[in-house]
Amino acid sequence: MNNLENLYRQVIIEHYKYPRNKGLKGFSQKRLYNPSCGDDVTMEAKVEDGIVKEINFEGNGCSICCSAASIATELLKGKTVREAKSIIEKFYALIKGEEVDGEDELEEAAVYRGVSQFPARVKCAALPWKALEQILDGEENER
Ligand code: ZN
Repeated sequence: MNNLENLYRQVIIEHYKYPRNKGLKGFSQKRLYNPSCGDDVTMEAKVEDGIVKEINFEGNGCSICCSAASIATELLKGKTVREAKSIIEKFYALIKGEEVDGEDELEEAAVYRGVSQFPARVKCAALPWKALEQILDGEENER
């Protein structure tokens, strides 16, 4: 394992062991399940005036899924709904191994680029982000 891979693993393991914003508070929620791995994650977001004020999650799954949920709660908090959705799109491109314009906006989440080499794992990483995206879509529809 080279140093870069090691660093990536460290970020993922750190968020898996010490998840941020774990525990639901009753905001808009979306639960998604990934049968191929057994990941079961519920995301929730509090959106006010078009800004994502708070994000929490709950669930069980592999280290890739749970760490991706934890990182998403930190990265997308404080963003406008539009910014958050743009970052989610970049994350999808990243984990599919595509070129990402403005990859620096992904901050820590950029470590998931390596996931693109493992198609089964792409679903794990995407699951919490998909749940969030669906919540944000709902928020937009309410406007
Ligand atoms: Zn998984």
